[in-house]
Amino acid sequence: MLNSCLKINAKRLIIYNDMNNEPEIISEIDKILEDAERLLNSSENVNELDDRFRNFTGKKGKITGILHNIHLYSAEEKKIIGSKSNEAKNRIENIYNGKKKELSNIEYGKSSTGRGIDLTIPGSYMEGPHKHPITAVLEEASDFFSSMGFEIVEGPEIETTHYNFDALNIPADHPARDVWDTFYLLNGLVPRTHTSSVQARTLEKKQLPLRVIAPGRCYRYEAVDATHLFMFNQMEGLFVDKNVRLTDLKGILEETVKNLLGARKTRFRPAFYPFVEPGLDLDIECVFCGGRGCGICKNTGWIEVIPCGMVHPNVFKYAGIDPQEYRGFAFGMGFDRIVMLKYNINDLRLLYQGNIDILKQF
Ligand SMILES: [Zn+2]
Repeated sequence: MLNSCLKINAKRLIIYNDMNNEPEIISEIDKILEDAERLLNSSENVNELDDRFRNFTGKKGKITGILHNIHLYSAEEKKIIGSKSNEAKNRIENIYNGKKKELSNIEYGKSSTGRGIDLTIPGSYMEGPHKHPITAVLEEASDFFSSMGFEIVEGPEIETTHYNFDALNIPADHPARDVWDTFYLLNGLVPRTHTSSVQARTLEKKQLPLRVIAPGRCYRYEAVDATHLFMFNQMEGLFVDKNVRLTDLKGILEETVKNLLGARKTRFRPAFYPFVEPGLDLDIECVFCGGRGCGICKNTGWIEVIPCGMVHPNVFKYAGIDPQEYRGFAFGMGFDRIVMLKYNINDLRLLYQGNIDILKQF
């Protein structure tokens, strides 16, 4: 200590530096701060950091030791040493807090992914809502018919027997009424068995010529199986004008199938429905067996999808329209079956179970 002189304190020998007249303990505090900075910043984990931090500011830490012995100094020295020690202590705490945050982030990243945080990993995807396949295809079909000039109309699901049967040439004593054997309400109304009731209501308004479609739910007393439900969706179509022919019906329905299902083999075969004459069924080749025959198509190779035909003169008469002046065709598309064929669903019941695993595939 060549450049120092000695002063005698009552309790302790203090070495002063010549140059700035400060107690040498001050440079000791600087040295402690320097060590703390180096050691804390080089800590590799939180435990090591905590241990090192305690060596400086803990109960037996270096800074604590200096403050503990401060009573050995004069009042003036106490002031300098106290202030310097507290400054150093605050600085060490700041370094400790910053480093602890840094190390904690790294350790959190390791524990949550096992590999640290990888910002290139795609976030978890939350699937948004989408339409039920029946709704989606119904809207697609509605758009298609609208593009051909058809208007969309609706009717009540709970219907009078007049619109559901009588106005459609199915009087109370007609044996064909048994075909639509169904539920009746106590007040005599009936959950409509087909959307053809909307046809009767539309004709009654006599705004001719007309082109309408009427999508909606229908109800029948059916034994439920893969292709039959007690509730189903139908889309009624009605086209009335002065020169409508069967070929118009065939052309429009073939185009409809092509638009909704792509190129499919179809066939028309004669069928009886009291409200059309002649009556037809449009069948589509069974997609499940390729026409060879299976349980779903009842071994016929075909699935009946669109009952249709030319509007029966009696239906026009019920509505007060002269069948000599106007002609028309009508169809009642089995909408659930269209969806079934479009997506190769082999059981209609799957569409109504609300099973998310099935519905999210569409
Ligand atoms: Zn089949």
